[in-house]
Amino acid sequence: MAGEALELPAREGMDFDLVIVGAGPAGLAAAIRAKQVNPDLSVVVVEKGSEVGAHILSGAVIDPIGLDRLLPDWRQDEARPLRTEVKEDRFYLLGHSGALRLPNVLMPRLMNNHGNFIGSLGNVARYLAQRAEALGVEIYPGFAASEILYDERRRVVGVATGDMGIGRDGKPKDSFTRGMELRGKYTLFAEGARGSLSKELVARYKLDKDAEPQKFGIGLKELWQLDPSRHQPGLVQHSFGWPLDASTGGGSFLYHLEDGQAVVGFVVHLNYENPTLSPFDEFQRFKTHPAIAPTFEGGKRLAYGARAITEGGWQSVPKLTFPGGALIGCAAGFVNVPRIKGSHNAILSGMMAAEEAAIAIMAEREHDELAGYEAGWRRSDIGLDLFKVRNVKPLWSKFGTYLGIALGGLDMWMNELFRTSIFGTMKHGKADHETLKPLSQVTPIVYPKPDGKISFDRLSSVFISNTNHEEDQPVHLRLKNADVPVRDNLPTYGEPARLYCPAGVYEVVYDDEATRANPRFVINAQNCVHCKTCDIKDPAQNIIWTVPEGGGGPNYPNM
Ligand SMILES: Cc1cc2nc3c(=O)[nH]c(=O)nc-3n(C[C@H](O)[C@H](O)[C@H](O)COP(=O)(O)OP(=O)(O)OC[C@H]3O[C@@H](n4cnc5c(N)ncnc54)[C@H](O)[C@@H]3O)c2cc1C
Ligand code: SF4
Repeated sequence: MAGEALELPAREGMDFDLVIVGAGPAGLAAAIRAKQVNPDLSVVVVEKGSEVGAHILSGAVIDPIGLDRLLPDWRQDEARPLRTEVKEDRFYLLGHSGALRLPNVLMPRLMNNHGNFIGSLGNVARYLAQRAEALGVEIYPGFAASEILYDERRRVVGVATGDMGIGRDGKPKDSFTRGMELRGKYTLFAEGARGSLSKELVARYKLDKDAEPQKFGIGLKELWQLDPSRHQPGLVQHSFGWPLDASTGGGSFLYHLEDGQAVVGFVVHLNYENPTLSPFDEFQRFKTHPAIAPTFEGGKRLAYGARAITEGGWQSVPKLTFPGGALIGCAAGFVNVPRIKGSHNAILSGMMAAEEAAIAIMAEREHDELAGYEAGWRRSDIGLDLFKVRNVKPLWSKFGTYLGIALGGLDMWMNELFRTSIFGTMKHGKADHETLKPLSQVTPIVYPKPDGKISFDRLSSVFISNTNHEEDQPVHLRLKNADVPVRDNLPTYGEPARLYCPAGVYEVVYDDEATRANPRFVINAQNCVHCKTCDIKDPAQNIIWTVPEGGGGPNYPNM
């Protein structure tokens, strides 16, 4: 039956003024703003996680500019999700066994975290959802938007949620439920980094034709309960250098929250070249550094997860609007890379787009372009935030960690003091899937075995991401050509998906391990934590991440 077109019942539909895909900070800020502008508007938000926040993974040190504008009373709210203000900022350059603390006076002002809050972005999303529902927004967690609805004039007119209860063989099971059509006068896409529908929109409307390629990193993160003697609430620490070599971009973050907890994370820029690099193992190795490991002694790891982060910044932001909708938040790519912050811009962009949409709807417009949003963002606080740091990532990619970061620092100072740069606006060059070197040109990286106390293996890590997918459903990680992994990627790169996937989804198995006879590419889709790295980094661009059944994926507590 697979391959044959199935006769499915027609989908039911519902009509709204505003349809929003994704209940992250961007989507929820948009929903709240639309209702603030006009309480009579009907606004719906769909979220693929089993609950709001279940799929959100961030640092996070949060610049409150977005929350302050959206909900000026949030600081007085008993239920506020952010309570720990940053007290101390530390930056380290790590060597193999030593650590050099960089003087804070060298840091451009924009890198200063005082006035920011340490917290869980998942909990911020949960809080925003409560505030949105209080205003009458309808939020449907457990529903993945799987399809964009277009009209005959190529305008976006809404989305459809995925069918539930289709078996792995493609046939409806007893539990089959048809997806719903959610039709809107405008549809805002707030799917975060590398959204599956946003990617389709960028291609269909050629939104990126005048932009540099989008760049990404993979961020891995753990939540720890620390030994009380190691806990310093309000401490924010970043590092770069070891264990990455000088030609590989990335670094760590370590933030001490309230209640004796801390988060530790590691970002690897996905333009790395060595196909034997494993971001997961780099993260585990980082925690064993003599300057870092003591923080975790006597502590307990509570949660693990991973997520892609956009890194292209100012020059990679595509055109944001198309007939019938807009991209907001990290679907548009609004992360400030040196600050490792995007949630404030996600909120600000959601607000901007929602204001435009609400005003258009009140003027009885629909399905046209929200031109004011596209025209305005570069002059807004989002544009100012991204413009000053536009060369940091390209300088790092071009000159490596030491010279690249030094030049990036100089460039940020120049932008801050003189509003100019001797570098102009640099290009990023290659997309991340184009940067791997063949195995024959690299020195293989050998990782130490995890100790089970501070460093861990993939499977025990995925276990505490609480990831769960209905097993009897079509594999949501689709291969354009099933032969490519073994025929091309394995001999040339050793099939890097085995290593860049932070959840052990991809394996190459052999009939006989000793002779390596008959290799087969195996996809353990049920382990997928929805980080989107495979969709970004596969050198053949052969892996397409699609939404699984709604509700599937990680169940992050407060990540
Ligand atoms: C490791 C790491 C550390 C970071 N640290 C910081 C930090 O310290 N400070 C900071 O400000 N920013 C930080 N960021 C960036 C920040 O997390 C993002 O800028 C922010 O999450 C973007 O918000 P968003 O609403 O656009 O997307 P997201 O937060 O990614 O939310 C998107 C939501 O949409 C849902 N969704 C996606 N597709 C669909 C679909 N088709 N149907 C239904 N639902 C869908 C997702 O499940 C998710 O809930 C970090 C990011 C990472 C990865
Ligand atoms: S399969 Fe892809 S999206 Fe899922 S966890 Fe692995 S790399 Fe991330």
